[in-house]
Amino acid sequence: MSSERSRAYNRITGELFPGGVSSPVRAFAGVGGTPPVIRKAKGALLYDVDGNDYVDLVGSWGPMILGHAHPEVTRAVAARVQRGLGTGTPSPDEARLGRLVATLLPSVERLRFVVSGTEACMAALRLARAATGRDKVIKFEGCYHGHADPFLASAGSGALTFGTPNSPGVPADVVRDTITAPYNDLGAVAQALEENEEIAAIFVEPVAGNMGLIPPVEGFLEGLRELCTDYGALLVFDEVMTGFRVHLGGAQALYDVMPDLTCFGKVIGGGLPVGAYGGRADLLAQVAPEGPVYQAGTLSGNPVAMTAGYRTLKALSRPGVFDAIVANATRLAEGLGDDDRVAFNVGTMMGLWFADSAPRNLEEAKTTDLERFKRYHAAMLAHGVHLPPSPFEAWFVSLAHDDRIIERVLEAHEASITASA
Ligand SMILES: *Cc1c(COP(=O)(O)O)cnc(C)c1O
Repeated sequence: MSSERSRAYNRITGELFPGGVSSPVRAFAGVGGTPPVIRKAKGALLYDVDGNDYVDLVGSWGPMILGHAHPEVTRAVAARVQRGLGTGTPSPDEARLGRLVATLLPSVERLRFVVSGTEACMAALRLARAATGRDKVIKFEGCYHGHADPFLASAGSGALTFGTPNSPGVPADVVRDTITAPYNDLGAVAQALEENEEIAAIFVEPVAGNMGLIPPVEGFLEGLRELCTDYGALLVFDEVMTGFRVHLGGAQALYDVMPDLTCFGKVIGGGLPVGAYGGRADLLAQVAPEGPVYQAGTLSGNPVAMTAGYRTLKALSRPGVFDAIVANATRLAEGLGDDDRVAFNVGTMMGLWFADSAPRNLEEAKTTDLERFKRYHAAMLAHGVHLPPSPFEAWFVSLAHDDRIIERVLEAHEASITASA
């Protein structure tokens, strides 16, 4: 497998961009090696500048749930582009996507579109603080809620891989109000609520995907709901990753727990930059211009991006489509597991751990065989499978990962398991 041209590009991007990338995890720092430079993506496959192709299990970090360049989405986007790239005005496109999201998630009575998951979480925190008149927030170790200052008390994936739980440049004062608890530990949350009166909200990834895939233990989400209600704090589900991924109605439908606010990103934009936050109507009524909580965005609700999101969710909602993707993920997970490793899926998200049992929090995730993952990742790449370049990332399966593609992954896997042992 040649990588001459990728290396040449990596030299150019390395001079231009920190780490040669536009977002840290892409640099392969977590696994070593050179990231292939991708010129084209179609279906389940990526094509690099050296003429290699790979089965992609990153899916643009989640959004490409129908597979890359799905004709229904690309056709609709191309048609919408002809009518202008954006006007900064109300449009039918945002109304359509907004209504569909509100239909799929009953807890989302109203919502506001933004441009990224980071922005959605940042705005939801501001709203939660304003609505409760409190400043403190509880988050979980290893959960990622974007890179806004108050959440960088202990971040997942990128920050973890680089070993800097707290980023320089984040004022101590800003994270003083952020309380961090271990994931799946209700006792720690109860204690934090007991010891701190001023807690505005609990932010949680209802299925954690930014420290590798870690599902909630039985009763965890229900317990958070009860604690929030008891202590007058808001429950905020960060469904940027899980939204339309673990269930069409998000993790809140899968586990039947209603949050007060929900954050969206990734799939909601179908591959273009979209985020959103939504929830109880009385809370959203406090957002400007209806209410005093300021939040705005020049490109928010961009019609081309709204079109990509709408077409993606529309296709996903068609009978049988979501179930077919879950079946693809289940087939893949079943093919990958064995005695020395655990592989499982939650909906269309997949996790693989080199460990006897699946970790339940960040501490346990760190005790899995991370070195083995690095060797495995390199071998899989050499065998034409593009995995997330870190053990602390979830894998994303799409509609395009049909039997033939899964077979190709399993063949590469057999070879890579031996090579990485
Ligand atoms: C990706 C992600 C974010 C951040 O979204 P961006 O669009 O990258 O800013 C926030 N929360 C979760 C759970 C995510 O997976």
